[in-house]
Amino acid sequence: MDKKVSREIRLRKRPTGIPAESDFEIVAVPVREPQNGEILVQNLYVSVDPYMRGRMIERKSYTNAFQLGETITGGSIGKVAISNLEEFQVGEYVLNMQGWREYFVSDGGGLTKIAPKSVPIQAYLGVMGMPGMTAYVGLLKIGQPKENETVYVSAASGAVGSIVCQIAKIKGCRVVGSAGSDQKVAWLLDEIGVDAAFNYKVAENLTAELKNHCPNGIDIYFENVGGKHLEAVLANMNLFGRIPVCGMISQYNQTEDQPGPRNLTSIIGKRLLLQGFIVSDHYDQLPQFHEEMLKWIKEGKIKWEETIIEGIENTPQAFIGLFTGENLGKMLVRVGRDTEK
Ligand code: NDP
Repeated sequence: MDKKVSREIRLRKRPTGIPAESDFEIVAVPVREPQNGEILVQNLYVSVDPYMRGRMIERKSYTNAFQLGETITGGSIGKVAISNLEEFQVGEYVLNMQGWREYFVSDGGGLTKIAPKSVPIQAYLGVMGMPGMTAYVGLLKIGQPKENETVYVSAASGAVGSIVCQIAKIKGCRVVGSAGSDQKVAWLLDEIGVDAAFNYKVAENLTAELKNHCPNGIDIYFENVGGKHLEAVLANMNLFGRIPVCGMISQYNQTEDQPGPRNLTSIIGKRLLLQGFIVSDHYDQLPQFHEEMLKWIKEGKIKWEETIIEGIENTPQAFIGLFTGENLGKMLVRVGRDTEK
């Protein structure tokens, strides 16, 4: 094998507030020759995800914190470049959790082969992967949507939100989404097919804006944002409404704990269900999710968008962009070219 180096992104400093590029460093690491029973994988796409911000904080959580000087791990898709392992052939694609690096040597542990037929490989980091699965279990298991109910989705033009909107439409719901630009709102209305959408950044009064777009109240709120969105939603929820609490991205960069919504007592009288969930607790449903999602995609009922940033060196910038709304659909970084396609 030619002498290879893998460029990798490591955590240099724990971010305060919105992460800065200076919180990360890029290092070039020599890649060793794969031995018997090992493969060399070239990563093609790496995922940047909001949950990674939580892992940059040293605290007890459902996942371990990233350590300083450690390469950021997370979802990525690579191609087997050299194989000394019977189970893997050169040219096969593998979903892995090696994260923000160009190459790695593996004994095959923790790798999942993907053989996409009707979707591009990187869809397994988006609509067919963790974000798609999050939308699926959060809405269907916790939200329990019924025909003609009103579903409101915040961060609706993102990787998870845009899929939630479309699954809710498939289930016969009236869907309202919010996003942070007029271009995203237009995309939600024209491409994703929501019934109403608004730009929350220019809304003077979120409670009134929601009342306007949800005249019959909200039955399900798919929570991606938290903070003032949740307070405005609680004021508009219907009796026995459900709130799958998926994420609260507006809080991830806060340097101090924020006060909760002022109207939490409405949960009692309205008999609301608020349930937090973590997608990895539901991976027993992965085969069912893959089957159903592929069917919907083939039927033209689910569309998706990707924002692809080029080059491993731009991964921190892509990650930071999640908190400033640079992405439409799934934010990805292409770190290698798939030359033999
Ligand atoms: P997105 O693709 O939705 O990207 C994040 C988006 O959030 C941005 O594009 C931006 O869009 C919006 N945003 C950023 N900051 C704010 C803010 N302060 N207020 C309002 N909107 C903001 O990311 P994902 O789809 O990957 O994740 C969406 C949510 O789902 C996140 O909260 C994430 O943590 C959560 N999640 C939870 C999982 C679980 O297992 N519970 C698994 C996966 C994701 P805009 O332009 O509209 O502001």
